[in-house]
Amino acid sequence: MVTTVATRAFAAQSPTSPLGPHTIERREPGPHDVKIDILYCGVCHSDLHTARGEWEGTKYPCVPGHEIVGKVVAVGAHVGRYKVGDRVGVGCLVDSCRECESCKADLEQYCYNGNVGTYNSRDKHLGGYTFGGYSASITVDEHFVLTIPDNLPLDAAAPLLCAGITLYSPLVHWHAGPGKKVGIVGLGGLGHMGVKIAHALGAHVTMITTTPAKAEDARKLGADAVLISTDKAAMKVAEKSLDLIMNTVSATHDYNAYNRLLRVDGAHVLLGVPPTDMPAPAVGRMLGNRLTLAGSTIGGIKETQEMLDFCAKHGIVCDIETIRMDQINEAYERMLRSDVKYRFVIDMATLKAA
Ligand SMILES: [Zn+2]
Ligand SMILES: [Zn+2]
Repeated sequence: MVTTVATRAFAAQSPTSPLGPHTIERREPGPHDVKIDILYCGVCHSDLHTARGEWEGTKYPCVPGHEIVGKVVAVGAHVGRYKVGDRVGVGCLVDSCRECESCKADLEQYCYNGNVGTYNSRDKHLGGYTFGGYSASITVDEHFVLTIPDNLPLDAAAPLLCAGITLYSPLVHWHAGPGKKVGIVGLGGLGHMGVKIAHALGAHVTMITTTPAKAEDARKLGADAVLISTDKAAMKVAEKSLDLIMNTVSATHDYNAYNRLLRVDGAHVLLGVPPTDMPAPAVGRMLGNRLTLAGSTIGGIKETQEMLDFCAKHGIVCDIETIRMDQINEAYERMLRSDVKYRFVIDMATLKAA
């Protein structure tokens, strides 16, 4: 028998209802579990899409949030890596099968049997489905808990757990580094992390944006060059100049405009999920330049810890705006207008009063 504790949370009750106070059950720690008091939770676009039922399969009530940081308040008898008081994080995953080829290769995000998402996934322990970080606490198997290095502020580190790893993993996989020219498409929560991490890896970074007003910010974040994608002449000049493109745009758009920027053997990595299938890329150009059109999502647990340690070493955190729990619905509206630099983070101490 698993015992549970009533826990305060913030939930959407339907696709159209605003998020509001709600009570969920959290399990008391089993032998391998860590119980975490949540101090901050980042606000990802996936939270909004899921809460509003814009992707298939949202179960209600829905408690989003997968950029979780906090302090350990209890551990199970067999937990070896964490103790009470440790600064820890939980990202997009809370479990996986642990037995398949992907899991054995530390690629839990690509589990062949389906990973367990931090919210809106099947809950192996309690039945039902998982609830995310818009809540007072969470209980997670220690394998899926990350250490937040001491020199990273907890609030600004929270979005590293989704936005940070989403860029770090493909940048490392496709060898961004000294001598490589990397383009980052889209300057939002993901894109601003891409600029910072690619710069810290030693690559030459080009920010590719539709918005000339973002050029100055992009340079401050570490971009060496800014390419305005609506400027046809500049796009022409930039043809075949990049080794790697990280495409963070989730709106429907034409891949070909970016494929043209790639050198021979270049890779164009898709990180955003568009609402509809995109127009097919021009195959002739891909063949004629040995291009790779690829996709990537978050990272495994081992790599997420490497990313946190890398960010600690290079002093990288997210640029954030802290909000109260009861401002979440307004924050969603502002995200839809791209009115945030560059990530909202909820101060979970405000959940009590919300
Ligand atoms: Zn996310
Ligand atoms: Zn697996």
